[in-house]
Amino acid sequence: MGGNRRYGHFQCSSCRQKWESSHVYVKKGTEKVEYGQECKRCKIVCFPYQVEPIRCSLCGQTDCDCQKDRHIDPTKAHRADLCMRCRAGKHCDTRNW
Ligand SMILES: [Zn+2]
Ligand SMILES: [Zn+2]
Ligand SMILES: [Zn+2]
Repeated sequence: MGGNRRYGHFQCSSCRQKWESSHVYVKKGTEKVEYGQECKRCKIVCFPYQVEPIRCSLCGQTDCDCQKDRHIDPTKAHRADLCMRCRAGKHCDTRNW
């Protein structure tokens, strides 16, 4: 499951800090990101500038090095305090996707 889950690359529009999250969710049937995440410095909500599938399109694995820019770590701790989805009460539970 988890067909609407994506991996997102974020950059704060204010301080330019970059971060990544494996807990980006799009509206069913679209590629529209539903929830942003807060920059931990600026406390402003940012949406990812780049979104990619959780699974590699080449080998189907979640964690691989087929593509050189790919550095997905789905087990990386999720900052629920910065995630608008978690804060909306729909907790991003890794055991549930
Ligand atoms: Zn910032
Ligand atoms: Zn791969
Ligand atoms: Zn979350």
